Amino acid sequence: MKEALLIVDLQYDFMPGGALGVKKGDEIIPIINTLTGKFDFTVASLDWHPEGHVSFASTHGRDVGESIQVDGVKQELWPIHCLQNTHGASLVKGLNKDHIDRYFHKGVDQGIDSYSAFFDNEKKRETGLDNYLRQQEVTKLYIAGLTTDFCVKYSVLDALELGYEVVVVADACRAVFEEKKALEEMKKAGATII
Ligand SMILES: [Zn+2]
Repeated sequence: MKEALLIVDLQYDFMPGGALGVKKGDEIIPIINTLTGKFDFTVASLDWHPEGHVSFASTHGRDVGESIQVDGVKQELWPIHCLQNTHGASLVKGLNKDHIDRYFHKGVDQGIDSYSAFFDNEKKRETGLDNYLRQQEVTKLYIAGLTTDFCVKYSVLDALELGYEVVVVADACRAVFEEKKALEEMKKAGATII
């Protein structure tokens, strides 16, 4: 049985002052730095969007915070964020990257968003994370990062569905809107919250 740490979307656009800044998102960097290197493997996901991405309100001429239906799939609308190969999409400098074995990019298709580090929101395409973890014989996954109520939550739910034992490191996560509700939802689905 091997254990891995998944660091979700620790990118500049999700830091306070960033395009989709998360309150106190920077506080978790030193906490995550105390975790890296303590597991058999460490992997990181990166939100990685092309221009005109479906999740950007501007793509649809709508307002940030609205929800729309795109091909029958609910899509929350966000400010432009994590454009591929921009500063906003890069991993924050303060994060210790020495132990990160592999990076997985998500939201790379223009027409479909991806909250989970495993699949897009329609589960049509895999990021390769599940394959990688299986190859390394990882069965237990610790998850930390941004944000508790979106990309962490959906990664946790997918990981549980894929059969991993999942531990959420709550103080190494921050939420955009609702932390408590998201933690309860993950716990109910079978995750251990520490
Ligand atoms: Zn995104």
